[in-house]
Amino acid sequence: MPAVKDPYKVLGVERNASQEEIKKAYRRLARRYHPDRNPGDKQAEERFKEIQEAYSILSDPEKRRAYDQGGGFFGGFDPNAFREGFGTAFRGGFGSFGDILSDLFGGARAGATRRPQRGRDLETEVRLSFEQSLEGAQVPIAVPVEDACPTCHGTGARPGTQPEVCPRCRGRGIESESQGLFSISQPCRACGGSGTRITDPCATCGGSGRVRRIRRLRVKIPPGVRDGSRVRLAGRGEPGQNGGPPGDLYVITRVDPSPIFKRVGDDLEVDVPITVVEALRGATIEVPTLRGTKRIRVRPGTRHGTVVRLRGEGPPRPGGGGRGDIRYRLVIDVPRELTPEQQAVVDELASVLDGNPRAALLARAQASRSGTAKEGGK
Ligand SMILES: [Zn+2]
Ligand SMILES: [Zn+2]
Repeated sequence: MPAVKDPYKVLGVERNASQEEIKKAYRRLARRYHPDRNPGDKQAEERFKEIQEAYSILSDPEKRRAYDQGGGFFGGFDPNAFREGFGTAFRGGFGSFGDILSDLFGGARAGATRRPQRGRDLETEVRLSFEQSLEGAQVPIAVPVEDACPTCHGTGARPGTQPEVCPRCRGRGIESESQGLFSISQPCRACGGSGTRITDPCATCGGSGRVRRIRRLRVKIPPGVRDGSRVRLAGRGEPGQNGGPPGDLYVITRVDPSPIFKRVGDDLEVDVPITVVEALRGATIEVPTLRGTKRIRVRPGTRHGTVVRLRGEGPPRPGGGGRGDIRYRLVIDVPRELTPEQQAVVDELASVLDGNPRAALLARAQASRSGTAKEGGK
């Protein structure tokens, strides 16, 4: 557990320093170690947090007195005890307190942490024709993104000016209220958790530090995507904050259905009608593929719904694992009407192709019925 550092030492002031001296020391150090000035520098970031924490104690006469008297206990709670309570969730010291709060309070950014934050992931949809989904495509997309304001570089302050430390929360981004033994914290009402106050807002973004714009991209959709596939474009989401990495962009593909093929997993499926005679005698028939036609064998005695596969004729597997199959489902096409000539031949067929295929079924049904009757008669 990291101990709370002596705030006097952190700010480099005497124990009897005046409020003015403390403020001066804080401003000087905060400026020097501000993460915006030291992007990616972990040590500077830690130091900045310490400085903020030290200032939050020494700038508050009550907390300062409590610290002076109790050497670490201030504001009605012991920060070390608090840390224990939060366990590992609290590992970052006061810096991550803001994160915990922002989780609790629906994303209010406790900017007092000023830690590098990864940008948000974005999601967008693209429509593809069935052919495009198989062959891959370059499609234009327009994604609304929030970018750091180019005028103020995300600070929200007019160029040449600096955001001030929020006077209400003294840069912590949260405010705590003591209620007996407990202390309730919430994002600072004055700064909304940013820890800073913009006195002279940037004209471009009005002080928010962010601008909305439409980013136009051409996305390369790999061959073989399905309806609802997610294509991840790393680093194309919203930009990070305080030097954090950008988020990712997810492109969801919406694929128009094909009039012929149905996509089933990595395969395509298509119903192929065959005649009664082809089913009986067997045949070689022509079927559609993605690139023209091919011939497949229908075995003699083929049943309705039999599936014949053409391996490797289906869609490319995303990620380059070869191609799926086309599954031809053979559907026996029974004529609705017969010509007198056909009728005569079918009658003749009936005389030789006789027998009762339902005999076994009916026998089973009978046995089952008598079994129930016996049981019921007991
Ligand atoms: Zn701006
Ligand atoms: Zn504030």
